[in-house]
Amino acid sequence: MINALRGMKDLTFEESQRFVHIVTTAIGIAKKYGYNYIETPILEETKLFKRSVGESSDIVGKEMYQFEDKGGNDVCMRPEGTAGVVRAFVQAKLDRRQNEKFKFYYYGPMFRYERPQKGRLREFHQFGCESFGEASVYEDFTIIQMIGDIFSALGIGYKLEINSLGCTECMPTYRQNLVNFLTECQDDLCEDCNRRISTNPIRVLDCKNEKCQSLLTDSPKLIDNLCDSCDNDMKKLTQLLETANIDYTINTNLVRGLDYYNKTAFEFVSSEIGAQSAIAGGGRYDKLVEFLDGKATPAVGFALGIERIMGIVKMPEVNREGYYLGAMDQEAIDALFPLASKKRLTNKVEVEYEPKKLKAHLKGADRVNARYCAVIGEDELKNGTIWVKDLVEKEEYTISQSVF
Ligand SMILES: [Zn+2]
Ligand SMILES: [Zn+2]
Repeated sequence: MINALRGMKDLTFEESQRFVHIVTTAIGIAKKYGYNYIETPILEETKLFKRSVGESSDIVGKEMYQFEDKGGNDVCMRPEGTAGVVRAFVQAKLDRRQNEKFKFYYYGPMFRYERPQKGRLREFHQFGCESFGEASVYEDFTIIQMIGDIFSALGIGYKLEINSLGCTECMPTYRQNLVNFLTECQDDLCEDCNRRISTNPIRVLDCKNEKCQSLLTDSPKLIDNLCDSCDNDMKKLTQLLETANIDYTINTNLVRGLDYYNKTAFEFVSSEIGAQSAIAGGGRYDKLVEFLDGKATPAVGFALGIERIMGIVKMPEVNREGYYLGAMDQEAIDALFPLASKKRLTNKVEVEYEPKKLKAHLKGADRVNARYCAVIGEDELKNGTIWVKDLVEKEEYTISQSVF
C-alpha cells in the first residue's frame, strides 16, 4: 500500500466539506470587498522567496521545499502566497498603472519542510488577499474588517492584535536603539537571538524563548518612537476599529521583521485551538513591489491558515435536499434517467441503479440525505406515474411522470 508523504494529508468527507465551506465563505466575502481571483504557480524560482520572505527567516533558512529540476533550475514549492502574487503583479506590468488599484484573492496549498508535529503539516492551505495601489490607512482598516467578517461568517471567535512597524523614517533609528539595548543584554539572550542582533534584530521581539521575552519587557518600543505619519496612521486605525466595534490589543512584539514590511501589522488569534495561536496575519508591505523589481506600489494583505481553523469552524446545518430516485423493477430503471435530468436543472438528484423494495429505497434516500424519495413501481410504470414521499413533511403522493 502506498501512503501519502509524511506531513501531507488527504482531505476527505467531513474535512473536505469544512475546507470547501471555509474557502467559499471567504471568497464570497472577498468578492463583496472587490477582490478578484488570482492563480499563481506552486513552483517558483527559489530566489523569489529568498528575496521576498528573506534569507534570515526560518522559512527560507530551514523549511523550503527546494530542489533542482531536470533543467538544472533552482526551484521551490511556494512556502507562502504573497511572493508569487507580487511577482505576478510585476510581471503583468500592473505596477506601471499607477493610478489604478488591484485587489486579488487566492487560495491553495503551501509547502514547508518542517519537522512533522501535531498541527503542523508540510503541505497546508491558505486563503489570502493582496491589495495594491492604496496607501491610505483606510485600506488597512478595511482589510481587517473583511477578515473579521470572514471569521464571523464561519462562527469563529477571535482576538485582534495590531502593531505599527514604522517606516523608513522612524524604523532605522528605532532599530539602532534596539540593537544597543540587545547588545547590553546579549549574554542572557538565546543563541538564535544573538545571531539576530546582527542579521535581523526586529525578529528578536517575537522570539518564543521565555527568557528572551522577559528581557524584552524593558526594551524600547517602536510604538513610542513613531514618526508623525506612522503615528497618525496608527491613531486613525485604532479610531476606525473602535467606531466599528472591533476589539483589539496593541502587541508591541508583533513584527514581520523585514525591511519592506511597514506601518500596520496585525494578527488574528484564537484561544479555541489550544494555546493562543494565530489564525490569520498580515499587514502593509509598501516596499515589496520595488524589492521585486517593480515600480514602488503601496500594498497591504493577509493570509489565513485553513487547517488552523478547520476544527473550530461552525458548519451550517445540513438540511435534507433534493431527490432520490429508484425503481422496484428492472424495466422501470430506464424511465428514471429522463426524470433525473429534468430535476437536476434545479435540484440535487441521485439515482439508484438496482431495483429494490420500497423500504430499501426509503433507507437509500435517508443515506444520501434526500428530501424526496421518488419510486416507480409496477403500477406507476403501467400508468406513467411516480410515487413521491416528502421526507421532511412526511407526506406521500403519486403524480404523473410528465409533471414530476
Ligand atoms: Zn514612520
Ligand atoms: Zn531568543
